[in-house]
Amino acid sequence: MDSGTAVVIGGGIGGLAAAIGLRRIGWTVTVVERAPVLDDAGAGISLAANGLRALDALGVGAAVRGAARGQYTGGTRTPDGRWLARMDGAALERALGTPIVGIPRADLHRLLRAELPAAALLVGVEASAVEPARSGGGPLLVRAGGRELPADLVVAADGLHSRTRRVLFPSHPGPAYSGSTVLRAITERPVEAAGDFELTWGRGAEFGHIMFADGRAEWHAVLNAPAGHRYPDPLAELRHRFRDWHHPIPALLAATAPEAVLHHDVNELATPLPGYVRGRVALLGDAAHAMTPNLGQGACQALEDAAVLAAAVAGAPSVERALLRYDAERRPRTQAVARAARQAGRLGQQLAHPAAVAVRNAVLRLAPSGVAVQAILRHADWTAPRVG
Ligand code: FAD
Repeated sequence: MDSGTAVVIGGGIGGLAAAIGLRRIGWTVTVVERAPVLDDAGAGISLAANGLRALDALGVGAAVRGAARGQYTGGTRTPDGRWLARMDGAALERALGTPIVGIPRADLHRLLRAELPAAALLVGVEASAVEPARSGGGPLLVRAGGRELPADLVVAADGLHSRTRRVLFPSHPGPAYSGSTVLRAITERPVEAAGDFELTWGRGAEFGHIMFADGRAEWHAVLNAPAGHRYPDPLAELRHRFRDWHHPIPALLAATAPEAVLHHDVNELATPLPGYVRGRVALLGDAAHAMTPNLGQGACQALEDAAVLAAAVAGAPSVERALLRYDAERRPRTQAVARAARQAGRLGQQLAHPAAVAVRNAVLRLAPSGVAVQAILRHADWTAPRVG
């Protein structure tokens, strides 16, 4: 179908990417975002080859690569600084054409926004309902901020707590707490760190960082904790908790302003959805498959969704047929990546029993070099469809 009208609910990375893809195949698209400012306030994000290839298919890959920093050196360590596994970004680049790259979320979001005309973005407007066509075959209606937006296709990219998902799949239990809480920030100034990317595993705790092109770093600390647990002074808590961990961890925390620290519990769709589509409505990104961040694949999968959705719509005789193809292509892959992410968290950050941690660390130290690259290739080696 080379033209039609789509409404995308949600202006996160997934929703913007979906809008870009649909516009590339000739559709008229409106993105409805309830937040008063269209932005992504999260700290930073790493994108593997699959996410970058999806961005290439959407025509934004070069701009994102230009603003991002390749993560060539680093790996996984113990709190005393010993290496468990090294990451060879050059080997990844040889295999996939790119290492993993790191970029501030706000920059990625800005580059996606720049691809869309201002008139396509309704900001500060909440979508409250998607109603069926009033006449057989007519458009759906999206109710949003007192308006009725007609749509041949509705893309619900409304995130982890998706209202659309609850309406389409009322018996699905919804998001579940993973057992971990994450604090993260971008340093307020450039920092000296030997590695572009590091992950350090203690008992039930992880500290990681990625470097950006301007020399600042994004760090994250993930802790086993009861849901909703909060600290009166999060940065002071982390400085205390990680005071004996290897360089550059205390230095990264010292280079951070207290007000920059974000704190979120990690939730996921632990129960996989039985479908990502109903008629002419498609779930996309976290709305469909919110996963734990342990593989850094959530946004990459949302970008893949967007490319596949646009290609499916372009190549199908009807929206319904396109969405069946989208569902068949995306559900098995994204649910497998989500399972792998959960498993990576259980064997990595969440592992707390001293004996289990010792066994895990011994196995990782004995593993042949290249295993870390192989683990990334398993999910990052994905071929994007042609879009437009
Ligand atoms: P969201 O970003 O949640 O966007 C949903 C949007 O919909 C929001 O803007 C919301 O305001 C809007 N909305 C909701 N309801 C309505 C409504 N009714 N009307 C209008 N608007 C509405 N992924 C990676 O690939 N690499 C990483 O390195 C990485 N790191 C991560 C680290 C952490 C700590 C976490 C938690 C996640 C990480 N992820 C990573 C995952 C990634 O952040 C998400 O998968 C991705 O941002 C999901 O994008 P989305 O557009 O689907 O959802």
